[in-house]
Amino acid sequence: MSNIVVHRVDEPGVLPDETKLGFGKIFADHMFVMDYETGKGWHNPRIEPYAEFPLYPAAMVYHYGQAIFEGMKAFRTVDNRIVIFRPKDYLNRFNRSADILCIPNIDVDLVNEGLNKLIEIDKHWVPGSLGTALYIRPFIVATDPYVGVKSSDTFKLFIITSPVGAYYAAGFNPVKIKVEDKYVRAVPGGIGEAKTPGNYAASLRAGVEAKKEGFDQVLWLDGIERRYVEEVGTMNIFFKIRGELITPALNGSILAGVTRRTVLEIAQELGIPAVERRIAIDEVFEAHAKGELEEVFGSGTAAVISPVGQLTWKGQTIIVNDNKTGETSQKLYEYVTGLQYGKIADKHGWVAEV
Ligand code: PMP
Repeated sequence: MSNIVVHRVDEPGVLPDETKLGFGKIFADHMFVMDYETGKGWHNPRIEPYAEFPLYPAAMVYHYGQAIFEGMKAFRTVDNRIVIFRPKDYLNRFNRSADILCIPNIDVDLVNEGLNKLIEIDKHWVPGSLGTALYIRPFIVATDPYVGVKSSDTFKLFIITSPVGAYYAAGFNPVKIKVEDKYVRAVPGGIGEAKTPGNYAASLRAGVEAKKEGFDQVLWLDGIERRYVEEVGTMNIFFKIRGELITPALNGSILAGVTRRTVLEIAQELGIPAVERRIAIDEVFEAHAKGELEEVFGSGTAAVISPVGQLTWKGQTIIVNDNKTGETSQKLYEYVTGLQYGKIADKHGWVAEV
């Protein structure tokens, strides 16, 4: 056990109305914090009231974007336990992003312990209605006050949490996707595989244009040939063609989604054929023309499974599964959320009780 100092709020915050949560605007009372300094390593793990924190305007994160983050969830189960879904998988990915951004690795066990302590202290902030969760956002920023490009010698790690509403307030609605053929998000050898702010900044322009054109999301193609499917804004993508699930193989420019891996593992367990391989967008459109494209869905922590009803590429639109949620999408959604809310027994060791 490590020495995590706890400094509690004087006055607990007012809990929000669970029926009007939305996403990411309300924050629980406390946060986990830790500091890094070259020579000293990560030190001073602590839990503090959620509050503003001072940084010099010269702090490197503001100028050169040396930062990483994660996104996972804690759930209140139907029998009123608090569980976190696959926390160590997210924290291991945090370290993978750290490697890519030259940020010193964290001790996953220590940060997991801090996370558990944080959720334990703020457990009344974990909403209880089906579909809601406590979103958990760990992040690290470079804090050297230095205006020059280099890797920082000091960093700060935070974990903040936010009660979030049901993603599908109005039901499981298939989304309209624009296959992006003008902009690219990442290239092999770049930082696409990291959860780092720059990748999201790089995606904004395409997203704004797609929204103006009436689409919900962008599907990125590879940055070289603009032909091979990569991922959606904050989701990995799956195609069901002739009974088989296909998702793009991890190639260095795609985020290794925890939900993606969960879907692949569940597919194997349920006997649904599933492969990770390169898949060209023309293959998807050809499969549709032959009547073989059965389902398309995104996978991610926020929505779990998001069915895709429509894909538009270079002005050509295809409608998937009559714009309805497919049976495999439905089955996977129910399985994953069943595990998260404790309705299905966890035989995988994915659900970590706080
Ligand atoms: N791709 C990107 C770019 C993302 O931001 C996310 C959300 N973390 C995903 C895919 C899905 O990953 P996960 O299932 O781990 O949430």
